[in-house]
Amino acid sequence: MWFFSDEHRMLQETVRQFAQSVLAPRIEQLDDEESFHREAFPKMGALGLLGITVAEEDGGAGLDAVSATLAMEEMAAVDASTTLSYLAHSILCVNQIARNGIAEQKARWLPKLISGEHVGGMGMSEPEAGSDALGMKTRATRQGESYELNGTKTWITNGPVGEVFYCYARTGSAKREISTFVVEKGMPGFSTGKKFKKMGMRASPTGELVFDHCQVPVANRVGDENSSVQAMMRNLDIERITIAGISLGIARNCIEVSTRYAQERKQFGKPIGAFQQIQERLSEASAWYEACRALTYNSAKAFDLTGGLSSREVSAWAARAKLQSAQMATQVGLDAIQILGGYGYTREFPVERQMRDAKLIEIGAGTNEILRTIIARQMLGNDVAQA
Ligand SMILES: Cc1cc2nc3c(=O)[nH]c(=O)nc-3n(C[C@H](O)[C@H](O)[C@H](O)COP(=O)(O)OP(=O)(O)OC[C@H]3O[C@@H](n4cnc5c(N)ncnc54)[C@H](O)[C@@H]3O)c2cc1C
Repeated sequence: MWFFSDEHRMLQETVRQFAQSVLAPRIEQLDDEESFHREAFPKMGALGLLGITVAEEDGGAGLDAVSATLAMEEMAAVDASTTLSYLAHSILCVNQIARNGIAEQKARWLPKLISGEHVGGMGMSEPEAGSDALGMKTRATRQGESYELNGTKTWITNGPVGEVFYCYARTGSAKREISTFVVEKGMPGFSTGKKFKKMGMRASPTGELVFDHCQVPVANRVGDENSSVQAMMRNLDIERITIAGISLGIARNCIEVSTRYAQERKQFGKPIGAFQQIQERLSEASAWYEACRALTYNSAKAFDLTGGLSSREVSAWAARAKLQSAQMATQVGLDAIQILGGYGYTREFPVERQMRDAKLIEIGAGTNEILRTIIARQMLGNDVAQA
């Protein structure tokens, strides 16, 4: 992109090398076994990737949303599921503690999260509250110097493997009376429930967080009581922009693999790239990818220029970027499989894994349908869009 700085390009190169040397050798086996690349985290920590958006004075790299999106794209071109776990850790947990925590809380949790000694996650979704996140039922009741949490979070990335979770719970009777609690592994009454078997993103463990009379000290509450909705929604913008970076990485690799294959594979005495139907798939894929790349990095830039503050306009840009990039990556993955024919359908090439991974991004961090409603609301105004 025309506005990438030298720092952005250096980061891109660093992450590209990391992905090739650390992630590439392991991902096929991890995907097959549905296991987690735990050792990658301290290595990301050593490169400054885990606190990528955290201010330098808090131990982070002090970089912007454009940088975080670049890191996602480069990693996801090789291994989208470890990238998803990296996103849950760095954007949904670390970034939120850094933005909303007080000094003591940052000093308590950030060092081990930023080094990779601890893995983090975020608990918002519940069995009966997915798209309607504000319908969450998990409740925190104040009892002296602690809160008692009861409820279940579900679909939580890193749930089965993490140590620190940035969780939302209801503390009042009104819909928006929601507070944030950092729940740590080993706290009384906290356990991880079911681990889900998945179609894709199989090296990114997804599971439940169960709070059964879970005792959480008041010191673990982030922000004032009943006041977390704005910060929760604001984080969705950077989550959607950076997860769109994962879609870009997946699509880019699928295009590279299928282009090479179209040059090398011969049928009817010529490379399959000579057939116009193959050319059409490749050219449409590359045009859609480039359009999504421009949209996503422009949205990241808009986010950075507003100082990371949520505005309706930035939220709509984030929604557009994810809506298009996610659909693009799924389609590009399917097209890559088609171009590779029988080989595309097997695990001899990475494109079938990447297509399975791509589909998740049409669901997580806001489904396509929810993103369309956000964009329509910004265009039409609430009165018309919600009439
Ligand atoms: C692999 C994975 C990782 C995840 N990681 C996390 C995580 O780390 N933390 C976390 O909190 N959550 C996480 N999630 C949860 C994710 O954000 C939710 O799955 C998502 O928000 C959708 O919620 P739902 O699955 O309950 O679907 P539902 O909300 O039940 O939706 C079902 C269908 O109805 C549609 N629908 C719902 N409401 C509307 C509407 N108003 N208009 C039109 N259509 C509608 C949806 O688009 C969808 O097609 C993860 C999910 C997955 C699969």
